[in-house]
Amino acid sequence: MSNLSFFESVEKNFEKAAAITGHPRGLLDQIRVCNSVYHMKFPVKIKGEFKVIEAWRVQHSHHRTPTKGGIRYDSMVNEDEVMALASLMTYKCAIVDVPFGGAKGGIKLNPKEFTAEELEKITRRYAAELCKKQMLGPGLDVPAPDYGTGEREMSWIVDTYMALNPGSVDGYGCVTGKPVTQHGINGRREATGLGVFYGIREACKFGDDMQALGLTTGLEGKKVVVQGLGNVGYYSAKFFQEGGAKIVGIGEFEGAIYDANGLDVDQVFQHRKATGSIINYPNAINLNKTSDVLEQECDILIPAALENVIHSDNASRIKAKIIGEAANGPVTAEADDILNEMGVMIIPDMYLNAGGVTVSYFEWLKNLSHVRFGRLQKRFEQASNTKIVETIEKLTGKQLTDSEVDALVKGPDEIDLVRSGLEETMINSYHSIHHEWKTNPRSNSLRSAAFVVAINKIASDYEALGIFP
Ligand code: NAD
Repeated sequence: MSNLSFFESVEKNFEKAAAITGHPRGLLDQIRVCNSVYHMKFPVKIKGEFKVIEAWRVQHSHHRTPTKGGIRYDSMVNEDEVMALASLMTYKCAIVDVPFGGAKGGIKLNPKEFTAEELEKITRRYAAELCKKQMLGPGLDVPAPDYGTGEREMSWIVDTYMALNPGSVDGYGCVTGKPVTQHGINGRREATGLGVFYGIREACKFGDDMQALGLTTGLEGKKVVVQGLGNVGYYSAKFFQEGGAKIVGIGEFEGAIYDANGLDVDQVFQHRKATGSIINYPNAINLNKTSDVLEQECDILIPAALENVIHSDNASRIKAKIIGEAANGPVTAEADDILNEMGVMIIPDMYLNAGGVTVSYFEWLKNLSHVRFGRLQKRFEQASNTKIVETIEKLTGKQLTDSEVDALVKGPDEIDLVRSGLEETMINSYHSIHHEWKTNPRSNSLRSAAFVVAINKIASDYEALGIFP
């Protein structure tokens, strides 16, 4: 499958791009290595018995603080994986200009094997362990959800932090992806999937690139396959369907389905909820193996589950023209070479799934400023817009309909500002990596270009610090 571990795969991609940048070796090494790796084992009493829980927190880069990155719950979590994910976070934050260093956490467990109370105990103990080491806090290290975790886990973490740091005025900024009622932000839940949608939509606007792939511009009618119907996969699929694309294949843990006429994402989701599986969805074909979904006929393939799913064994069977890496590390470094040879356009993880950390940044800003976005200006803007509409009506003698007035007058709510900030970020960042790809002949893929952009930004931070004059 792959001769390289996940971290080695990230390093290989880093080195390819590093050679293009021309920065001194020592500086490149400093950017590449993980600054702190904390491997912990702690006891939790489960059903009357002691159980040793193994967990990690890796802070890849302290060039900017706090460090930031999700926490993963999975029985396969290991140090190499958490290091790889932490390093991707550093590059991701640099690409989308959020002022954090990269980090990641992981607890080696299968959440399905524990009750909610047991998971709460484990999560709170993990948060307490991080507090003991000064590895959790709004100015130190700010986790978020990842594979196997969500708003519930984040609310346990913030509550534990606040209990151990009473009176901390900015304490709610110690973690993001919290429920909206617990100092979270509207729009965080779907942010990664929406960012995936904005990113691929932007890529599909470039006529030359689409022509080279034999595709037309735009998303209308494009056939899309999604692997993983969790947070990122579900919302990605949903936004693509709403945006005019056709979801023809969906893969989940238990199996995969394909329907060339298109699947309805919400109905598949409800079918899975009702039957416990996505298979046997009306009119769709059940595929033999869940991984077969990756090899189906489509224009855009969105792996949104786990790393290393496209590897040297199956890369040559991929039929998609575009791979949008919603998951972290779904394509191994070997497969990346094969797919580039085949002319497949890969929109890399470190750019494409950055919607989550972008909106996490907005949530952190909200926590530090202690005010909801839109609270100050919404009514003011509404009043100003009303005056403009009234003046236009007076000058033209024409009366607008109520719905026209509403659309013109409405001031922004928090969700409007969050989505606008996310869209701006994904579009701008795509243009920066696309520009590098198209103007630097040595940046021969979007991944290389994204690494070059990230490395240059991080290098300039170190240079500004005077460490590497
Ligand atoms: P999740 O736990 O919500 O969902 C993942 C889904 O993938 C689950 O439903 C699981 O059953 C399914 N799955 C697992 N193995 C599979 C397989 N072999 N085939 C098909 N489906 C499979 O996790 P998530 O938060 O959606 O994260 C998914 C990926 O996106 C991860 O790589 C994560 O690091 C990345 N990511 C997540 C976020 C975020 O905000 N949650 C942000 C950036 C990147």
